[in-house]
Amino acid sequence: MQHFDVAIIGLGPAGAALARQLAGKKSVLALDKKQQRGTGGFMKPCGGLLAPDAQRSFIRMGITMPKHVMADPQIFSVQTLDVQTGVARNYQRSYLNIDRHAFDLWMKSLIPASVTVHHDALCRKIWRENGLWHLSYVVEGVTRHATATYLVGGDGANSMVRRQLYPTHEIRKYVALQQWFKDTHPSPFYSCVFDNHTTDCYAWSISKDGFFIFGGAFAMKEGREHFEALKTRLVPFDFRFGEPVKNEKCTVLCPSRWKDFVCGKENAFLIGEAAGFISASSLEGISYALDSAEILAGVLHQAPENANAVYERKTLGLRIKLMGKVVKNRCLTTPWIRSAIMKSGVSHIRVTQDDVTEARA
Ligand SMILES: Cc1cc2nc3c(=O)[nH]c(=O)nc-3n(C[C@H](O)[C@H](O)[C@H](O)COP(=O)(O)OP(=O)(O)OC[C@H]3O[C@@H](n4cnc5c(N)ncnc54)[C@H](O)[C@@H]3O)c2cc1C
Repeated sequence: MQHFDVAIIGLGPAGAALARQLAGKKSVLALDKKQQRGTGGFMKPCGGLLAPDAQRSFIRMGITMPKHVMADPQIFSVQTLDVQTGVARNYQRSYLNIDRHAFDLWMKSLIPASVTVHHDALCRKIWRENGLWHLSYVVEGVTRHATATYLVGGDGANSMVRRQLYPTHEIRKYVALQQWFKDTHPSPFYSCVFDNHTTDCYAWSISKDGFFIFGGAFAMKEGREHFEALKTRLVPFDFRFGEPVKNEKCTVLCPSRWKDFVCGKENAFLIGEAAGFISASSLEGISYALDSAEILAGVLHQAPENANAVYERKTLGLRIKLMGKVVKNRCLTTPWIRSAIMKSGVSHIRVTQDDVTEARA
C-alpha cells in the first residue's frame, strides 16, 4: 500500500488546480472518475461560462487558455427575464463562453507528471485509522488501497468526503436539468429566467457552438415536470426548443446559511462545491473552486500543526462573499423585490437596434 502526503478525490476545476499547485512540493495521489480521452465517461453538466473572478485566478496562476477550450460565440450581455411580469432587462456581463468538458480535461492536463493521477478511477471508501486517511479506489477494474496524511474532497456536489466528515449535514440542493437543441434563434444570446411558478431558484439559456442550451435548477420533487412547464411558458417569449439532442441532469448545491459552508476536519479538507462554495444567486462555482484550491495549496505548503483551523480562517473572506450571494439570491427570487429592481432599469442596457432583444422585451 502506497503512502502520500496528500490524496485528492475529484479533479474538477478545484481538485485539478490544487494538484497542479502541490506538484513537486508534496507527494500527491489524485483520483478522478472522468476519462481523460475518448467521448465516454463522466462529463459535468454545466453552462460553461467563466466569470471574471475565475479569469482573475488564471491571471494569478500565470495561465493562458488555449483556443480549443473556448466556445463560439462570445456574448457580452445576459437577457434577464421575469416570466411572471414579462419584464426583460439586458445586463452587461464579462463571461467567457467555454466548452466545459474540454476545460476540465485541459485543467487536468496541466497537472505535472510528478503527481500520481488516476483517470477513470472511482474512490469507493475512505476511513481514518491510526492518524492517517485510508482510501479504497477502483482503477481499470482493480481495487487499490492507499494512505495519506491529508485528504482533500474536490468531489463536487455529491461529495463522499463531505458525507463522511459531516454525516448529518444537510444543505439545500436542487436538481439541475439541461437540454441541448440545435439553435434556431435569429441571433445567439444568454438568458437568465425567473419564474416562481416553476422554480424558487432560476433557469438559464446559453448559445454555444450552434446549440441552444436550456437549463434550470428545480426542486428535487417533480423537477422534470417543472422544467417542461417552464419551457412551455417561455414559448411566448420566443424561446425556440424543438427536439433535444442531449439531456443532462445532476445535483447542484445552493447554500442558504452560514453553516452550509464546511471546510473539513481531522486533516481532511473540502474545496470547491464539495465545501458548498458556489454562488447561491447565479450557481457560478468555478471561481470559488479555483480560489479555495489556491488557499488550500498555500496552507498545505506550510503544513501547520492546525492546518484545518488555518484553512478555515483563510477561507473566511470567500465565505463572507458567498453569504452575500445568499442575500442576493433571496432578493432575486422574491417576486416583488426582483420586479422592483428590474423595473427600476438600473444597469439595463437598452438595445437600440430593431433586433431580437427588442422583440423579446
Ligand atoms: C447545470 C449547471 C450549470 C453550471 N454552470 C456554471 C457556469 O456556467 N459557470 C460556473 O462557474 N459554474 C457553473 N456551475 C457550477 C460549477 O459547475 C461547479 O461549481 C464547479 O464545477 C465546481 O467545481 P469542483 O471542482 O468543486 O467540482 P466538480 O466540477 O463537480 O468536479 C468534481 C469531480 O470529482 C469527480 N468525482 C466525484 N466523486 C468522485 C469519486 N468518488 N471518485 C473519483 N472522482 C470523483 C468527478 O469526476 C468530478 O469531475 C454549474 C453547475 C451546474 C450543475
